[in-house]
This record gives sequence, structure tokens and C-alpha cells, in this order.
Amino acid sequence: MDEFDLIRRITPKKTHQRSLVMGIGDDASVYQPHSHCEEVVCVDTMVEHVHFRFDFSTPFEVGFKALAVNVSDIAAMGGTPKYYLVSIAIPPHGDEAIVTALYEGMKALADTYHMDLIGGDTVATRSDFVITVTVIGEVPKGTACYRHSAQTGDVVFVTGELGSSAAGLSLLMHEVDPVMAVDPAFFLERHKMPQPHIAAGHICSSFPRVTLNDVSDGLASELNEIAEASHVTLEIEADKLPVHADLPLLRKEWLEWVLFGGEDFVLTGTIPEADWENFENQCKEKGIQVTRIGQVKHEQAASVILKEHDQQTTLRKKGYNHFKK
Ligand code: ADP
Ligand code: MG
Repeated sequence: MDEFDLIRRITPKKTHQRSLVMGIGDDASVYQPHSHCEEVVCVDTMVEHVHFRFDFSTPFEVGFKALAVNVSDIAAMGGTPKYYLVSIAIPPHGDEAIVTALYEGMKALADTYHMDLIGGDTVATRSDFVITVTVIGEVPKGTACYRHSAQTGDVVFVTGELGSSAAGLSLLMHEVDPVMAVDPAFFLERHKMPQPHIAAGHICSSFPRVTLNDVSDGLASELNEIAEASHVTLEIEADKLPVHADLPLLRKEWLEWVLFGGEDFVLTGTIPEADWENFENQCKEKGIQVTRIGQVKHEQAASVILKEHDQQTTLRKKGYNHFKK
């Protein structure tokens, strides 16, 4: 495969962003930032056999997800994605059809958000694909949602549902029985083509004090990051956690998926109690599912507590730590 031929093929025929001055084709791209905005930038790498497998996902789905995980990070800042750059290491088994489909998968998601591909790098590798995607977005000045501003009394919330992606992965790995789910395709889709919650992030950034994180490593991990950054203790209630109706049918220990599974790419965070009703209504108007799952309890220690029936458990990033009674 010829590198220049490849670059020619993936170069967008038309671009969406009017602030783009020079896209693919020169040594670097040039764009004009909006004066009332701050730029939001992130990067994530996906490695074949570590983060994805072509016997589980098509190249199109892998491309879609490689961009989606980055767009989700922009969502978790309350921002709007605008541009992306792709560095790709191609192994000997990576033919033209695979690489083209990877880019088509990225483009499918990019088009929904009017994002433009503005550059990248192409190299050869000996064994596995490595795909690194950088996303550049923007947020109106001073409105980005960080992790450090939670206070006692705030509501803890989550957008969308939890555990579906982990269930999808377990189905792919034949760890659970697909016939138990009414709709196994739903869970597979959630794992292979996660939808970033950009619209929910926008609502969050319109409020003055929201903490936000996207659920990539699991709810327990994300909430611990907020607890640490804000120096607070968050308490969540197990029976409030939103899940798909079929999820509990698939596995007795489905709560493991919900708390530690990850890759749901929904948003979780905190908002002042006084703003909750307005926030909930705005989400409803936009058809966004948002669920109140707990409360910020106090500022004595950075921790996350799960309440289940009358039992309290400290949630570590990757596991439980049961309280002594
Ligand atoms: P340079 O040698 O100046 O780095 P390259 O020949 O690597 O330039 O790339 C030429 C143009 O194509 C640049 O605009 C670069 O950003 C873009 N490009 C190269 N590889 C990729 C890729 N895999 N995906 C997207 N754009 C790419
Ligand atoms: Mg180069």
C-alpha cells in the first residue's frame, strides 16, 4: 500500500468547519480559534489485541470507537469536538480495505458532529495495528466541567445506562449465554459502537458548578477520580443505578458490570441540589436520560460509598472493600 495513495484517499473532499484555514496536505494544519472559546484537546491510543480484535469488531466499528472514546473525553469537559488527527501504525496484515474501513468508521461518527480530519501520520509496524486519535474541540470561556468542584450536598448523577458495554464484551467472549437477553444485539452494539454524550455535556457546561467524568474505566473508578479531585465523599445507592431491563437476566453478578465494567461512555458527575430540577428538565427536553444516583456527603475524606439495602461498602477504583459491621 502506497502511503501517498492512502493519504490522498482519506483526505476529506469537503470540510465542515469554517474556522479551518489549511487541512491535510501541508506540514501541519492551521485553524482560527474562536475568540470567546477555550480549546479542549485529548488523545487516546487503541492497540490491536489489547483494545480491539478484528474477530470481534469490523474495521469500520474499530474506527468508529477509536474516535468515539476521544469525543467522549471532549463531552466530559462539556465541549464541542471540531477536529481530529489520526496516527496509524499498519502491520503486514493491514491491507487497503481494512485501513479504508477504519477511516470510514471514524468519518461516520465525525460527520454527526461536523468534525474534520485535519492530519495524522502513517507508519509501518511488524505485528499489530496501533491507532492514535487526537481530538480538538472548544468550550465557551470559563465553562469547562472539571472534576474538582464537588461540594457537600451536591447531587450525584449519571446520563444513560451502565454496564451494557461490559455485558456486550462478555457476550463476545462467550462468558454469558446470549439467549437470556431479549436483545443481545443491543449489548454488542453498546460495546462496539459507543455513542458519546456530547449533548448532555453541553447542558452540564451551561450550569456554573458541575463536575463531570466519562465512564471509560467504570463508574467506581470515575467517581473515585471526582472524589479525589474534589476531596469529598460520594455516596451512591445500588438500587438507583440505571441499567437496561435485560442486564440482570444475563448474569447474577451484573452489578460488577455496572460498577467496574467501563466503556459505557456515559457521563457521571455532580451538580448542586438547587440546580438539579432545572438540569433534569433540560435533559428531558432533549430526550437525554439522566438519573440521580446519590449525594456528596462530606468533605472529611476522598471516598466513594455504595449503599445496598442496609449495607455500606467502600468502592475502590477496581473493587469492593466491605465495611466491618
Ligand atoms: P510530513 O512528512 O510533513 O509529516 P506526511 O507526508 O507525513 O507529512 O503527511 C502529509 C499530510 O498528510 C499531512 O497533512 C499529514 O497530517 C497527513 N497525514 C499523513 N498520514 C495521515 C493519516 N494516517 N491520517 C490522516 N492524515 C494523515
Ligand atoms: Mg509525517
